[in-house]
Amino acid sequence: MSSSMTMTPKEYRDCTHHSEAQCATLLPAREAMLGEGMKIRRLLPHRQQRMIGAWCFFDHAGPADVSQGRGVRVGPHPHTGLQTFSWMMDGEILHRDSLGYKQVLRKGEVNLMTAGRGISHSEESPEERSDTVQLAQFWIALPEEKRHMPPAFSHHADLPLIEKNGATLTLLVGELFGHTSPVEVHSPLVGVDITTAGATQIDIPLNPGFEYGVAVLTGGAEASGHALSPGALLYLGTHRSSITINANEASQIILLGGEPFAEKIMLYWNFVARSTQEVREYIKLWRETDHFGTVEGYDGEPLPSPEL
Ligand code: MN
Repeated sequence: MSSSMTMTPKEYRDCTHHSEAQCATLLPAREAMLGEGMKIRRLLPHRQQRMIGAWCFFDHAGPADVSQGRGVRVGPHPHTGLQTFSWMMDGEILHRDSLGYKQVLRKGEVNLMTAGRGISHSEESPEERSDTVQLAQFWIALPEEKRHMPPAFSHHADLPLIEKNGATLTLLVGELFGHTSPVEVHSPLVGVDITTAGATQIDIPLNPGFEYGVAVLTGGAEASGHALSPGALLYLGTHRSSITINANEASQIILLGGEPFAEKIMLYWNFVARSTQEVREYIKLWRETDHFGTVEGYDGEPLPSPEL
């Protein structure tokens, strides 16, 4: 992130009084580069929709060819006030952090890093790896009472799998069809990966108190009167009791939902804060102190923070 964004609370839409297509908004992604040479599509935050529940950041990275050179390399950098949630679609990424965790993330697995008051980490292609890498990375804003908690890390290789009508649903976060994800979050949230083997129709029950968004990462689909393809997020608002997704072909689709986040947050670089003053303090802590600890074993320099 190179600019600051202020999130207004309750920036969501009540769909009770709108038609199906009207109350869904297609939000095009912005393209950017991550680290040294990996194209990403940034789906959140979006100017028209900063967050979905506590989900405040959604990058779809790759697919990238990492068969040559050193692959993906994102040097040590700090985080505060959030959880990073990395969902591997193809290939491998090696995570190292200032708590001493060193964890390879593989297809179908999740790394959850809780920054709390502060942590630093690096992400790189491991030496032994597949030729391509593709992942989704999400940030989850921590609510006021949790955002200064001690940092933590957990790896999840066995998420609940739900078979429905030619699709495999992986329950990333929250509850669905009587299953509960083991991934610990601190706000009411849901996250689902829907992978289909071909064209099919999937009906998913929704919580009317949550706002939702759906994005096709590979393939193509239709939902709520909109055609969906990679590079856009369909914001669905609140007050829905179900969603029907029609995949046109083999597809990988992400559904995110959550209770509209009641707090105003400030997202700057890798920090989630509440004020400019706080961001200034985090930058100073990163530049001048060991508040964020040390990432051992990464062959490269820590990332410098931008000027505020
Ligand atoms: Mn990071």
